[in-house]
Amino acid sequence: MDRIDLADIHHPAVLARTIHKLLAKRDGAVPVQDIAVALDIAEVRLDRFEGFEGMLLTDTVRSTGCILANNSKGRRRARFTIAHELGHFLMERHQLSAATGFTCSAQNMRETRDGRQHLRQETQANQFAIELLAPDYLMDPYYSDDPDLRDVQRLRDHLDVSLEACVRRMVNRREEPLAAVWSQNGTVRYFAKGADFPFVALSKGNKIPQTSAAHRAIANATPGFTQFAEADSHPWTGRSNLELYEQTRVAANGHAVTLLWAELPEDDKDDGGPKELGMPGFR
Ligand SMILES: [Zn+2]
Repeated sequence: MDRIDLADIHHPAVLARTIHKLLAKRDGAVPVQDIAVALDIAEVRLDRFEGFEGMLLTDTVRSTGCILANNSKGRRRARFTIAHELGHFLMERHQLSAATGFTCSAQNMRETRDGRQHLRQETQANQFAIELLAPDYLMDPYYSDDPDLRDVQRLRDHLDVSLEACVRRMVNRREEPLAAVWSQNGTVRYFAKGADFPFVALSKGNKIPQTSAAHRAIANATPGFTQFAEADSHPWTGRSNLELYEQTRVAANGHAVTLLWAELPEDDKDDGGPKELGMPGFR
């Protein structure tokens, strides 16, 4: 693999897919550190750094590159950080955030907004990182017929990528209208939604709806997965005319993620053809 093969590719997903073509990967975790070194990163340093999540020491023309990745929150987070910084390195239009290169925070690592240059390049570095670490062709064989957080946990283990990154990927990839809400001790931290999911009526600091199965599972605090169950759609989405289903994965430390699956009313759909609705499969 040679950096020259990637010259003039500015789209993050195309860049990552081109690397995968060169890599001819079959299965399992993507060797992000080896890829970085093959693409002229002189050194990848992992440590319990304070005050930042990732750093890329470089110059405007990328004549050199050194990646620092904070591993205080685990290996999987650090792997994502390495991929994110590699994205800044390869996307040469990204403007340095300091004279010595890029310094990226935990918030930057989940940036999805497309606003000013700075936000846009953080978003692009994340798009590159997720396309590199969890490409569709490695993920697709792991999806069940119906959406399921258990698939995501298997993917996490198989690809050595964080659960959160896999959830975000599934929510965007699957055809069903999906959203995911992350919470800690019953309080919303943030959410992600696919393009077809109507609306999430919760924001940071809100309580998980009291009428929800998620609320009961979180209060129980028993780690594991709930079954998909029909949910009261209004507190989650602000809409009452939706069929909504929810599944929650409760972790040991008060953290939880809830997957929401909406069945849109017929007149919301724009696919022109008849479609079998039916109940989502319970298991
Ligand atoms: Zn960044």
